[in-house]
Formats: sequence, structure tokens, C-alpha cells
Amino acid sequence: MGRLTEVAPGVLVATSAYAMTTSTVVIGSSGGCLLIDPAVTVDDLAALADELAQRGLRPVAAWSTHPHWDHVLWSRELGEAPRYAAPAAVSLAETDRESILEYLRQSVPGHDLELAGRMRALDAPAIPWDGPEARLIVHDGHAPGHGAVFLPDNGILVAGDMCSDIEIPLLDTVADDPLGDYRTGLERLASVSGVRQVVPGHGHVGDAAELRRRLALDAAYLDAVSAGHPYDDPRLTADSPKWMRSMHDDQVRYFQA
Ligand SMILES: [Zn+2]
Repeated sequence: MGRLTEVAPGVLVATSAYAMTTSTVVIGSSGGCLLIDPAVTVDDLAALADELAQRGLRPVAAWSTHPHWDHVLWSRELGEAPRYAAPAAVSLAETDRESILEYLRQSVPGHDLELAGRMRALDAPAIPWDGPEARLIVHDGHAPGHGAVFLPDNGILVAGDMCSDIEIPLLDTVADDPLGDYRTGLERLASVSGVRQVVPGHGHVGDAAELRRRLALDAAYLDAVSAGHPYDDPRLTADSPKWMRSMHDDQVRYFQA
């Protein structure tokens, strides 16, 4: 885990060597902090807990952007803060529990599996906590109940698995309307006013212009792939992980069918 870096006053981001997965910390009152998607290896979580302790911070609330295995992690050292996610995300984390745990065993062994995926459903416009306003933007598309967090005080959009510079749009192809859901998600994120920086779940923090670029790139990807066209997305390269190339092939096949 890279060390926590301040991206705006009171907002810290650490980036794991594993899939450039980000963890976001928002500093609240009296040493409390909000933790978004703490990830991803056992060592990453240990380093995160250590660094929070060194900074005199303790998690008082947490948010999982969506119910995929790399966004629902926790460790004893992070304490017993309430961990929230959108209702649809919590339901899926429950029904998909076995498959989430299997991914964890395979990909990042050693986690306390009892703590994985244990979020409580929060159906609210913002995360209830003693700190800067953390507005929720919940939609489907990548996963049911995907919830980005917008921090209006400093214009930070914590985007979960949307708006990445290293990952193509990954659709929830078991949904009734994967394309419509994803487009709605992009529109919702595009309509948030006052974004100054975007923090993707995987990849680099970008400024407002970079967010626009990613939104346009994602829309172009959806247009091409849903029309059954091959598409040279700059995020698909010879160095892209095999799983992403195969997800891309699956998505192309899905729309051709
Ligand atoms: Zn995901």
C-alpha cells in the first residue's frame, strides 16, 4: 500500500500495488474519520490501520461503494465503526457471499472472512457521521446499488468502480438493462456539480477535465460495444490484465447476441 497522500485538505488516498486499488479517508471531528473502500491485501489493511493510528485517526464510519470482493473488506485493527452500503449492494453482498469469499481466498488470502461484506443498508442522501458532508450518488450499472460519494466541501468525487483511467466500463450483464443502467450511472455522475477531483476505485486521481475525459471515453466505449463494433479503447492494451480483456470480449459478445 502506498502511503496515504493528501488529495485535498482532510482527504487522504492510499493506492495499493494490487490493481491500483484506492482507499479513501475523510477526516472528521475529534480524530474520527470516514473510510471508503479500505483495500485490498491483508498487508494493505494493516498498513492503513497503522498509518491511521500514527495520525491519531480512528474510523467512525465506513462506506462500501459496491458489493464486489475488493470493496467490502475490513480488519479488526480498523475497529468497529458502522460500515454502510446502499440497500441493493447489501442484498447482493449477502446473496453472493460465498462467491465473494471465494474470490478473497483466491486473490488476497489471509483476510478475516468473518468481517468481509458485513455492511448495513443505508438509504439516505448522505452518510450519517460527524464530519464533512458525504453525499451519496447511488445507481446501478457496474453493480447493483453502486454508491459514489461526493464531498462538496472540497469537490472530491469518490467514484468507486466508475470513471477509471485504467479500466473500461465493466457492466453488470446479469441485470435487465445493463447498458441503460450504466448510461444512467454516467449521467448521474456527470450531473454532480462542483467536482474538482475524481478518485476512482482503481487508477489515478484526476481533475475536473480528466473526469470529463473519462466520462466521454466511457460513453464512447458503450456506444461502440453496444453497436457491436470493435473498439480501440486506450485502456485496453497489451499490458491490460487478462481478466479485463476477457471481460471486454464477454461484453462485445453480450451485445452481439
Ligand atoms: Zn467492481
